This record gives sequence, C-alpha cells and structure tokens, in this order.
Amino acid sequence: QAISRPEWLKIRLHAGPNYKELKQIMRTQSLHTVCEEARCPNIYDCWEHRTATFMILGDICTRACRFCAVRSGRPTELDLAEPKRVAEAVVAMGLQHVVITSVARDDLADGGASVFAATIRAVRERVPGCGVEVLIPDFQGNWDALQVVLDASPDILNHNVETVRRLSDKVRSKAKYDRSLELLRRAKAARPDIRTKSSIMVGVGETWDEILATMDDLRAAGVDILTIGQYLQPTKKHLKVERFYTPTEFLRLRAEGLRRGFLHVEAGPLVRSSYHAHEQVVRAGGL
Ligand code: SF4
Ligand code: SF4
Repeated sequence: QAISRPEWLKIRLHAGPNYKELKQIMRTQSLHTVCEEARCPNIYDCWEHRTATFMILGDICTRACRFCAVRSGRPTELDLAEPKRVAEAVVAMGLQHVVITSVARDDLADGGASVFAATIRAVRERVPGCGVEVLIPDFQGNWDALQVVLDASPDILNHNVETVRRLSDKVRSKAKYDRSLELLRRAKAARPDIRTKSSIMVGVGETWDEILATMDDLRAAGVDILTIGQYLQPTKKHLKVERFYTPTEFLRLRAEGLRRGFLHVEAGPLVRSSYHAHEQVVRAGGL
C-alpha cells in the first residue's frame, strides 16, 4: 500500500511559454533530457527558468536502478554528432550553466567518457564562459575513462551515491557504494581545482544516522557540494516510498551538511541533483 503524498509535494503543473520553447528546441535538435526521461517533478519550474539537464549517449540505459524511470535495454548506436547539437541547444536556450548527464553505457569500452569530453569541449567552444557541470556514471571503475572527462575540465564533476551504504545494492543496479566514493575521491585528487558534487535521495528506507554517515563518507572523499531530495516513486513498478521527510527535516539535514564542511548543501523535498544547479554553484563560492 503506497503512502499518499503530503501537501508540500503537490506540484502545480503549468506549461509556460519558456517550457514550450525548450520542448521545441529539444525536439528540433533530437536531444534527450533527464527532466523528461526521469519524469522529474520540477520540469515546469526548471524549464520555465530555462534550466534543463541534457541526457547524452541515448535514452536507453544498460542498467535498471529500482528508483529510475529511464528505459533500460540495449542502447542504440553512438551518435557522434550529439556533442555539437547539445552545444547548439545551449546557444538556443541562452544558458549560462549547463548540466550534462547520460545513461550508463556499460556496453562501451570507455562507458561514454569520450563523448562526455567532446560535449564539454563543444559547449566551451560555442559558448565561452558557460558553466559546465557533468553528472557521470561510475564507468564501472575504469579510472582512465574518468581521467578523459577530467581532462576536458568540467567546472563541476558530479557523481551520485544516491543512497546510504546498506541500501545501495538494493536501490541501484550494478553500482557500488564504495566504488562511487572512490570515483569522487580520485576525481578530487587528480583535479583539486574541479568542484565535486554528489546527491542522496531519502525515503527509501534509510535511517537518519545512515544519512549522516553517508555525509561523512562524502566529505571524507572531498566532495564539495551535496544535494538531498525526497525519493518519489515514478511508476507503480518502481521502489516504494518508505517515508516522506518534512521540509523542517530537510532544513536539519542541510545544517548537518554545512556543519560537516560542504561548501553548499541544497536540501528539500523537491531537490534534485540539477535543481537550481546554477544557484548551487554561486552559493558554493562561484566557479
Ligand atoms: Fe531537469 Fe534537474 Fe530541473 Fe529536474 S531538477 S527538471 S532534472 S534540471
Ligand atoms: Fe537510471 Fe540507473 Fe541508468 Fe542512471 S544508471 S539512468 S539511475 S537506470
């Protein structure tokens, strides 16, 4: 039996003019966004503010995490013109900060790292000064692939642990809690100048202390920016919500994060990794 959504999670759905324009740009450039594929509840809000998260490397994922609405299966062929189209969309949308993520491409030797790098460079070339944030998969622990992304110098390197250690294997498919921490630690060690970021979703059965322990683990890995949001079940087939945290509890989590030394903590019921991504950077002291 699913528990019903509390009042603070009831979202007004209103498609404004910017939303419509962005939708048009995505279709014209044949691009995917995680906003649409993951059924993000913030889509009307973000798109109206001309913020979107591009999802590169296709819309079919080789993994099947139990919380995620992205389609799983056999991915399509590599689309080598995609980096340029993302750059064109960034121009058309007038973005000053772009977030780029991908499905997990475990079928590719480098997990798609070279396409991430090409996309970062294409955006830089077309829109100098635009902040570039990448939210990367774990590349199955291929640290050479990680280095390929770091060499393209994104402003922010984001990799989500998603949940606490105990629940990681249940919630995520194939990803490992310690491997994710290692990725973040290695990224910081290799490029201390690049801000690192990670995200936890709460409400999948973790305890309060486990959330705090995860924060400690992320800080020990040198993570600079943390986002914490409420898990929402995208369809009936997905993992059930075990608990809804109140806005006050999110404020407490934010305070716990700041006390641990994160440069910025974005925490709230509707916070997603890329929610207000630009403002997160500004609050973390700029790029
Ligand atoms: Fe897209 Fe992120 Fe905004 Fe959701 S929070 S609509 S994924 S930009
Ligand atoms: Fe979704 Fe998991 Fe694939 Fe990421 S790796 S797109 S979270 S199914």
